[in-house]
Amino acid sequence: MQTMLISASAQAEAGTSMGADLIRSGELVAFPTETVYGLGANGFDGDAVARIFEAKGRPQDNPLIMHVSKKSDVKLLWAHVPKVAVTLMDTFWPGPLTLIFNRSERVPDEVTAGLDTVAVRMPQDRTARLLIQKAGVPIAAPSANLSGRPSPTRAEDVLADMDGRIPLIIDGGPCRYGVESTVLSLVGKPTILRPGAVTREMLAAVIGEVQLASSILSPMRDNEVAASPGMKYKHYSPNAEVYVVTGSAQAAAKRIAMMYREFEAQGKTCMIAATEQTKNFYRGKSCEVLGDRSRPETLCANLFSALRDMDKYADVIIAEGIDAEDEGLAYMNRLLRAAGFKVERA
Ligand code: AMP
Ligand code: MG
Repeated sequence: MQTMLISASAQAEAGTSMGADLIRSGELVAFPTETVYGLGANGFDGDAVARIFEAKGRPQDNPLIMHVSKKSDVKLLWAHVPKVAVTLMDTFWPGPLTLIFNRSERVPDEVTAGLDTVAVRMPQDRTARLLIQKAGVPIAAPSANLSGRPSPTRAEDVLADMDGRIPLIIDGGPCRYGVESTVLSLVGKPTILRPGAVTREMLAAVIGEVQLASSILSPMRDNEVAASPGMKYKHYSPNAEVYVVTGSAQAAAKRIAMMYREFEAQGKTCMIAATEQTKNFYRGKSCEVLGDRSRPETLCANLFSALRDMDKYADVIIAEGIDAEDEGLAYMNRLLRAAGFKVERA
């Protein structure tokens, strides 16, 4: 299959019209959102949704998110709409917040991987919304990477993983947030299953106490698997080995410089995921600056693209850990998984 790439800025109408036609005919389309690129199919067509799992090599028990272009579409997807969801949708939609609630009968099993619940999000990205609107159906989509790899935040990353596997990629440029949406379950007490740009603090300011799934900063235990299947798998991983070093900027940088020399002595090519605060410590060493330690959203925006770029050269990638607060929680959630939880405290 030949994969076509269409620019959303130059050809928004043509790209979304072609994409909508493909979605309606049961094909897959990769499209930009403000979080990461999605790999979409008609969410009401179980056979089309099954193709997503095939293209990604995704485990069958990992459910997808339904993307809608208007809030009222949740009525098609959920058994009913709880009050707390209305408050959250009015505050955070369109935007990087996915809400989970009991599914309606219209939702195919392929989307929910057999669960009684379904995840729904209304994206902010204009191209994404135009595509969903024109398709006239909810678009079921996970991230548009091969299963296990870092999520794609640029069209070139989608192409690297999906070339020849899907007919169309709509190129909307780099994604604004760079990490996937916050996933909040509204079944029982509101619980964050996956942290994102809509933080626990932002949610709590609107609906009161919000719990955090305990697997967010640690490997998942067996009894948590059913609630959040996506977190159990090896995730976000480049081919290179990734290490995380936590501690103050200065202590981490010192430790990282030492590790770098040790890996080099073993004949390994090493790269450092650096920050504005530490880049001068690493002079003469290969590094890529992700952003500002005091503004974790800047690190989130560049994490996945930096992992993919460094992976082209490096056997080992060493990254700085930061405080897991506000958007730092989303950053550490992804980074620790990319590293397979190999962490050093400086
Ligand atoms: P992705 O967008 O590729 O990260 O995949 C969707 C994420 O949403 C995965 O982590 C899924 O496990 C999660 N998800 C989707 N639907 C549900 C659901 N009904 N219950 C729990 N998690 C879900
Ligand atoms: Mg994913």
